[in-house]
Amino acid sequence: MPSVVRVAVAAPVGELLDYLRPASGNVTPGMRVLVPLGRGQRVGMVAAVNQPTDLPSARLKRIAAVLDPAPLLTPADLSFLLWASEYYRGDPGEAVFGALPARLRRAQPLLDDRPLGWRSRAGAVAEPPDLRRAPRQGAVLALLTAAPQGLTDAAVRTALGDCSGPLRALAARGLVERCRLDAPAAAAVTQLPQPEPPPSLNEHQADAEAVVAASQGFSSFLLDGVTGSGKTEVYLRLIARVLRAGRQVLVLVPEIGLTPQLRERFARRVPAPMAVLHSALADTDRERAWRAAAAGEARLLLGTRSAVFTPLPQLGLVIVDEEHDLSLKQQEGFRYSARDLAVRRAQQAGCPVVLGSATPALETLHNARNGRYRHLRLPERAGRAVDPEILLADIRAQPLETGLSHALLTRMEREIDAGNQVLLFLNRRGFSPVLTCHDCGWVSECTRCDARMTLHRGRAILVCHHCGLEHRQPVQCPYCESPDLRPLGQGTERVEDTLRQRFPGLPLARIDRDSTRRRGELERLLMAAARGEHRILLGTQMLAKGHHLPGVTLVGILDLDHGLYGSDFRATERMAQLLVQVAGRAGRAERPGTVLLQTRHPQHPMLQLLLRDGYGAFATAALAEREEANLPPFSHQAMLRADSPKEQAALDFLLQALAAARPLAPPDVELWGPAPAQMERRAGRIRAQLLLQAPTRALLQGVLAPLLPALRALKPPRELRWSVDVDPQESL
Ligand code: ADP
Ligand code: ZN
Ligand code: ZN
Repeated sequence: MPSVVRVAVAAPVGELLDYLRPASGNVTPGMRVLVPLGRGQRVGMVAAVNQPTDLPSARLKRIAAVLDPAPLLTPADLSFLLWASEYYRGDPGEAVFGALPARLRRAQPLLDDRPLGWRSRAGAVAEPPDLRRAPRQGAVLALLTAAPQGLTDAAVRTALGDCSGPLRALAARGLVERCRLDAPAAAAVTQLPQPEPPPSLNEHQADAEAVVAASQGFSSFLLDGVTGSGKTEVYLRLIARVLRAGRQVLVLVPEIGLTPQLRERFARRVPAPMAVLHSALADTDRERAWRAAAAGEARLLLGTRSAVFTPLPQLGLVIVDEEHDLSLKQQEGFRYSARDLAVRRAQQAGCPVVLGSATPALETLHNARNGRYRHLRLPERAGRAVDPEILLADIRAQPLETGLSHALLTRMEREIDAGNQVLLFLNRRGFSPVLTCHDCGWVSECTRCDARMTLHRGRAILVCHHCGLEHRQPVQCPYCESPDLRPLGQGTERVEDTLRQRFPGLPLARIDRDSTRRRGELERLLMAAARGEHRILLGTQMLAKGHHLPGVTLVGILDLDHGLYGSDFRATERMAQLLVQVAGRAGRAERPGTVLLQTRHPQHPMLQLLLRDGYGAFATAALAEREEANLPPFSHQAMLRADSPKEQAALDFLLQALAAARPLAPPDVELWGPAPAQMERRAGRIRAQLLLQAPTRALLQGVLAPLLPALRALKPPRELRWSVDVDPQESL
């Protein structure tokens, strides 16, 4: 039996592939190779060597080339990535290469940005040539010979003036050569020389910190602290401790919007080199940060979800901030939960993991309550800040001005007159979510989706937020040609218009995806907002996340009602999290804050419970409902999705999937569907889904393991796309 090399190939092949060793050269796990696949060649990552195979030798192909002189990934990195691809039933190649910086996914060498220079090779030449007739060349050679490690172009120029001619001549004679000079490639790493002293922790913070610090090896903690309770201070103490012990720290945050403020705060406080990784970085910057982390130069890595895959050879602590946040879940391609993987990562590294939130996910609270995670609580705001007061504004039968009630406008005026900042939250961008014809009832429907097109009046376009389709804003009804077209409802753009008329000249910032398209714009607006430059901040959920806005004393929430009656079983959980997080922006400093929530359902029991007894009580009730209905976290799900431009094709495929799954599924594994997706048509594709639900993860995985190869073997038509989502977060 020949022994083979097992390779994760960067192609959707669904499994590791076996190859013969290359004709020459050494291969080790963690090196990239070039392998034949089909009629072409692909990049692959060596997962294991000297493996037995069942394939006959005649069918085995040989590795064409080895791309890396040394492994890019350690065995631990590889086993983590392969574990993740198995758990999430993804493609191993997609998981492994998705974790690498973009250039390394292609057959490119590791970025080398050590400075270029020249080095003498005189010692390697048998007969030193006579350079008396070329004194400039002689001088350059003498200079380089005296500096065996080499000199940069600039250093040569400083010593001898411009020597490009002599250097070329010497190189042609084989006496000098181009080389990379070893200098710390510190560009990706920031460190300030004088860290700021920390405040002394309050009693709750100190208790929480001590519990984590005393833990040995792997353990998971939920740091459940109200907004502004000083969770970040606890992280900073733990980080400092772990850095002093000579180990690395991984901090995951949900959004790039969170990184600038956090990066600044960490840079001021953490006495060690730090690297940052997020999707808005240029590829080369990502690669530098990745390499600094992998080489152990960066001691702290702060990043968004995909940073969980970054090699950190001395990992000693993992922190996931805002662990409930949906952006920690990758929803496309290789679908994974960065929070759940962070726990696995810590387990593998044998170190603690801290999940922090003011509004923990019900899954996480369940784990804390059943003892899998230690539950640490920070029940009070740190420093002098007090909890905001939350008021309900019943807007049934109330006149509204672009969605703003009289009660809200009156309060806004009061705060603005007093010199305070006001934050308004509306989770809908654009001018209005639909444009209609007053004469015939035409509505601006997307031709490719079961959805309405949003009016963006500033750019005079209709946009579908689901598929991106854009049309010029019509001047008359496309159906009856009436000019009487009316925007219905409001988005942030329309509210901004109204506010600018109502408060002329008052500095106002709108923060949503449209206003922050330019790179760095979000960062700029948030910094300015934190400094109090704007008197009114208006935004979508971009504004709701962990930002510290000390001047805000009033938060107005225009509309959260859809969350009370949403069709996704997680709708109320998300509504409660959003409400508490937005409310947490109010009164974070000395001045007390007020939150005004406009609603048409002031009597809704879950809303009442949340406001009266807080998120913990809400979560207890919500968990009881989930248990009653046997929904996660009391069961485990995987969603199979399919879509196709052809009617029926997605349903047909999922019917085949159902037929394949039935004999594999024990009686207590439920199969729901297939059924059309809630938005059945999207971007011209008809979508359907099939849900698998099992009482335990092991049972679910037991069905998925044989099911996925069976689905691949179905060879669905080329235009059909399908995917699997283990632990799905959205049922849409
Ligand atoms: P969280 O991460 O829970 O939202 P932060 O750590 O950002 O809370 O703390 C909120 C505010 O309180 C910050 O301005 C922080 O500097 C301050 N703070 C936190 N802990 C303390 C403390 N022990 N003493 C004084 N101020 C503190
Ligand atoms: Zn019309
Ligand atoms: Zn569309």
